[in-house]
Amino acid sequence: MKVGDLVRIAECVALDGGIPLFPCKCAMCDNNSTRVGLVVGRVKDPDFLDLGPQYIALFDIGEVILDRSPAVTVISKTRT
Ligand SMILES: [Zn+2]
Repeated sequence: MKVGDLVRIAECVALDGGIPLFPCKCAMCDNNSTRVGLVVGRVKDPDFLDLGPQYIALFDIGEVILDRSPAVTVISKTRT
C-alpha cells in the first residue's frame, strides 16, 4: 500500500465470519459507505503498538487510519 492507491474495506462480518446478526454500527455501515477510499498519507508516528506502517485514507465518510488489516484490499495501484 502507498499514497495514491485506491483501497477497499471488506464488508463487516460477525466474529465467526458469517453475516452479522445485528446491524453493524461502525461508521462505514452506519453511513452506507462505498468502502472505497484513496490513500492520502502515511502516519509518521504510529502509536506505541507495533502495528507496522499505518496510512491515512479518505473515504466518503471522512479520514480513516489504515493498518495491515486483512480487510483492506488495494484495488488500484498508483502509477508513480
Ligand atoms: Zn460495520
